[in-house]
Amino acid sequence: MKYFNRFNKMPHLCFWLTLHLFLLQSTTATGQSGDVESLIAAMLGDTPLIQNLQSLTDEIGGRVTGSEANLKSVEWGLQKFTEAGVRAWKEAFTMPALWLENSASAEISGDVTFKPRVVAMPFSAATLANAASAPLIDGGYGTDEDFQRIKSKLNGAFILIETHELLDLDGLFREYAEAVAIEKRAFNSGIRGLVYMSSRPQNLLYRHNASFGPNNKYPLLIMEREGAKRALRLLRAGKNLNIDAAIDVQAGGSYESYNVIAEIRGSEKPDEIVLIGAHIDSWALGTGANDNGCNVALVIDLARQIKRLGLKPKRTIRFALFNGEEQGLVGSWGYTKTHADELDNHIMASSCDIGSGRTTGFFANGPGGFLEAVARSLEPVAGLGPFVNINAPIVGTDNYDFMMQGVANLVANQESANYGPNYHARSDTYDKVNLIQLKLNAAIAAAVTYGFAQMEITWERQNRTQLEKLIQTTDLEAQMKSMGLWQSWVDGTRGRSK
Ligand SMILES: [Zn+2]
Repeated sequence: MKYFNRFNKMPHLCFWLTLHLFLLQSTTATGQSGDVESLIAAMLGDTPLIQNLQSLTDEIGGRVTGSEANLKSVEWGLQKFTEAGVRAWKEAFTMPALWLENSASAEISGDVTFKPRVVAMPFSAATLANAASAPLIDGGYGTDEDFQRIKSKLNGAFILIETHELLDLDGLFREYAEAVAIEKRAFNSGIRGLVYMSSRPQNLLYRHNASFGPNNKYPLLIMEREGAKRALRLLRAGKNLNIDAAIDVQAGGSYESYNVIAEIRGSEKPDEIVLIGAHIDSWALGTGANDNGCNVALVIDLARQIKRLGLKPKRTIRFALFNGEEQGLVGSWGYTKTHADELDNHIMASSCDIGSGRTTGFFANGPGGFLEAVARSLEPVAGLGPFVNINAPIVGTDNYDFMMQGVANLVANQESANYGPNYHARSDTYDKVNLIQLKLNAAIAAAVTYGFAQMEITWERQNRTQLEKLIQTTDLEAQMKSMGLWQSWVDGTRGRSK
């Protein structure tokens, strides 16, 4: 035990990093030693990455787009780049609607009285103060059959939906997809409001995007799993229950938000751009540590180390801290609009947004030769592998609008580690971040980013016809639908027009 504890402390971290450093240097010593190797070594060494993460999460905390804390985080990001000597600026874009929760509570009454903890789902409608209580109805898992079974009871009622416990990333995507179908059924049935059982045990609460986003008109709650189970047991035992839901929100129309963009100009092909991004906004129950403070700190540190070493990448490297990601990938969409004229010159855009678990490779979507290029860029960090790159378009983070604009794009594929259980939850705090792995991930991201800045590659971004073919040959359409992104592609408000 004693030894075990000792090994969990910082010296262990340094030992690991030193070991990796040694392994990396010894593998590269025989090959061509160069800029990328120095950069990888620097990323693995003692840098302010961890301090930055702690400052963003503990000092600024949760930072929902539209909040004071979010504005603070934008200034913070700008300052971190500037202090590192990297040119950085804010770029405005429009958020479609303001939504912040002030408070949410619920009381169960009727045959049994108790007060389970709840949170409002994003874009939930507020409820009037002292609203009369409404019947609470067992909605099962919210399937078609469930709605048929209870349809006579739904008018004016709150429906309580049971959920499967969330165990992994697949479960998360399933949860999102199911919610879209459930909400569609529920909103045609005369209900007054909808309550989901939390999919995480131990009373954990989290934000889960409502499928209708800002167009939602209903009170939507997530109830602690144990309290919701208790209510369902009571209902299934024939008890009558009511719910008093008090939801107070700050809601409003469109407003301006900001991405933070930084760049190091290319020395030979300054017009060609390699982009790495992470979103700076977070939901505010926790402090946005694994989602996505850790990768914000990574992106900043990458810019800092390239600058500190005085490296001269051939292509321009652009670093993006996107905002408004959680409300619908809005900041990165804004970027693709602001930089529409430059998109032909974006060689690659990558996103890191799956926490601090081990990077196992990348989800890659791009033209012929792209996957080979990704594999080549990973060679200098082969010791941190093995890596498996997956040729698949992936929807769910800031690569989306680049992808739908035909830009070759990557998302770091990471082991779930602490990400899933704490996703968007109260418990997504600094202590959940795997600091050692975050440093290793930073080295991997550095190799890929710098590799693409140096590589002899040319390709054209995909046009709409090619993207339509991609949709037909993959599960892209289903992914877009589950994230509420399909309509905007079809009607041409989002994505490449020709
Ligand atoms: Zn995220």
